[in-house]
Parts: sequence; C-alpha cells; structure tokens
Amino acid sequence: MTMEDIFCKIISSSIPADIVLQNADWIAINDIHPKAPVHVLIIPRRHLSSLADLDQQDPALATALLAAVGKVAKQKGIDQSGFRVIINQGEHGGQEVAHLHIHVLGGKSLGPKIVQE
Ligand code: AMP
Repeated sequence: MTMEDIFCKIISSSIPADIVLQNADWIAINDIHPKAPVHVLIIPRRHLSSLADLDQQDPALATALLAAVGKVAKQKGIDQSGFRVIINQGEHGGQEVAHLHIHVLGGKSLGPKIVQE
C-alpha cells in the first residue's frame, strides 16, 4: 500500500518543493517553515515512516542519508561553522510528517539542545 504523505507527494512531483540537492536515494528540500537561516530536510525517496524501519533490509540507505547531511552542509556553506541534525521520531519525538526525514539546521548559533520543562 502506498502511503501518500506530503513528502511522498513532493518526491513524485505532485506538489512543488524548493529542492537543494537530490540523488537516486533521497531528496533535500528547504523547510517551508524554517527554524534557522538554513533549515533543510533530507527525505528518503523510499517511504519509511520510522527510523525503526531503517534496519538491515537497507543498510546502504542509512549510510546514504548520513552522507547526505555532509553534502547539504557543504552546499549551504555551513560545514565549517557547524550545524545541528535532528530526527523527530513518533509522538513523543514530535514528528509531524510520518515519513522519515532528517532536519539540518544552521546559519546561526542555535539555542539549547534540549529544553527542560
Ligand atoms: P517533523 O515535525 O520532524 O515531522 O517535521 C516536519 C517538517 O516538515 C516541519 O519542519 C515542516 O515545516 C516541514 N514541512 C511540511 N510541509 C512541507 C513542505 N510542503 N515543504 C517543505 N517543508 C515542509
């Protein structure tokens, strides 16, 4: 069954996106509501709703996604100044779109890593 979430629609070109980089495994787009001067989402083309699904079935994809972070950081010119990588997972992680994606944030000094409540 195909899961037609918003990122699947971007990947199939049903809806537009501001593409930063892409290859056969993933697409990197500018976040529509950026939380920092640089806010890019790296999204696997294959639908995975959870990081827990990124298992032994496709170890190469895990490597490709991590390698994508470095490529995006270089493309955006934040590889030297630094950046933050976030994956929000599931309800407690605050995941809004149920399609695995990596946030890459930078371009300024970012705030506290985890806010204590
Ligand atoms: P998460 O909370 O980790 O699931 O993050 C989902 C992210 O997707 C949010 O930062 C949204 O701003 C972003 N987003 C949602 N729709 C779009 C879109 N059409 N294009 C780009 N980013 C989007």
